[in-house]
Amino acid sequence: MTTARGDVGSLYLHIPFCERKCEYCDFTSVAGATGSDAYMEALCTEVRRLGERLGRLSLDTVFIGGGTPSLVDPELLAGLVATVRNTFSVAVDAEVTMEANPSSVSTGRARAWKAAGVNRISLGVQSLEADALSFLGRVHDADRALAAVGEVRAAGFTSINCDLIYAVPGLGDTRWRRTLERVVAAGPTHISCYELTVEPGTPLHTQVRRGLVKPVEGVRSMRQHRIAVEVLERAGYAQYEVSNFALPGEECRHNLVYWHNGYYAAAGVGAHGHLPAEAAAAIGLDVEAGAVSMRYWHGRGIAAYGRAVGAGLLPVAGSEPVGPGMREQERVMLGLRLREGVRIGASSLVEARALEGLGLLAVDGDRVRATARGEAVLNQVTLRLIGDQAA
Ligand code: SF4
Repeated sequence: MTTARGDVGSLYLHIPFCERKCEYCDFTSVAGATGSDAYMEALCTEVRRLGERLGRLSLDTVFIGGGTPSLVDPELLAGLVATVRNTFSVAVDAEVTMEANPSSVSTGRARAWKAAGVNRISLGVQSLEADALSFLGRVHDADRALAAVGEVRAAGFTSINCDLIYAVPGLGDTRWRRTLERVVAAGPTHISCYELTVEPGTPLHTQVRRGLVKPVEGVRSMRQHRIAVEVLERAGYAQYEVSNFALPGEECRHNLVYWHNGYYAAAGVGAHGHLPAEAAAAIGLDVEAGAVSMRYWHGRGIAAYGRAVGAGLLPVAGSEPVGPGMREQERVMLGLRLREGVRIGASSLVEARALEGLGLLAVDGDRVRATARGEAVLNQVTLRLIGDQAA
């Protein structure tokens, strides 16, 4: 049986400030750090309130994402990490990740993050090609990005991720390969490669709609993904998830919780959480009969968030019950993305073999994972695999 405490070992915290908005971004963030002092105070209050309702959870992973957490005053970040430690029981060897952008990294700031208890830095490098960085609306150049890797290492971080983006219009395969090779040479322990997607509501979406930008076609995008797999695996980074590559033992434990369909609490504007039913009820969510768990989310407005916290509320904007069928569907869909694959029931094996015959799945005993072709049609593959069970 799930309990309010036992099954939740992860916490996500959102910090919504950026130097400026990138062209493709639909994350909850605003340009500038105005109001960050008051926001960080409200975030600490929400964390304490979560603790009052959930009890002193044992946390194995904490992820401070954004936005650009590295932009806010390191003392405020230290205050946030201290609040988490005072509120919850953070394991001695917990993974505490913070996202940072190269433009707000220095050795001094990185030392302060380290002293605060952060032990993993995820850097938004995205590209090392000037035209791609400019297209994406990033504020740093290649030299700053590579210097930032050195600075966080000099400050004592041994776990360093670099985020990269492929399928950027104008960025050919040769220069994508060069970016990968230069990032590898900088020596991060983890590299994430995400396909550029055109999200509604972003400036990039407007440009595409007006015909000013032509998105990279699927064939080239898949080729660039294959180039990433080839370059990174040759350099010793194992592809443990579709978009994620790590040196041995450097997989992101927090993100693995998501892909294993595990539970996590969340705080901060725009943050999404997923709690077992008992824990969801403990924080005041209206849990439907039959729900195994609840997904919930915060609103995107920073001012409204501050007001709700100030009024003594847990500022949750919405929630959705997850029944046993949906939970199983999500488990399989997320697990198919992992190199280790996901276990399926005997009743799905015949269908799995059929999908393997189509080149969409790889089957190993009772475990299956999506092939490169299967990844492109993951929803359909999942539905065929477990459609009848999920109904
Ligand atoms: S730095 Fe990240 S969160 Fe901020 S605007 Fe750019 S993509 Fe969005």
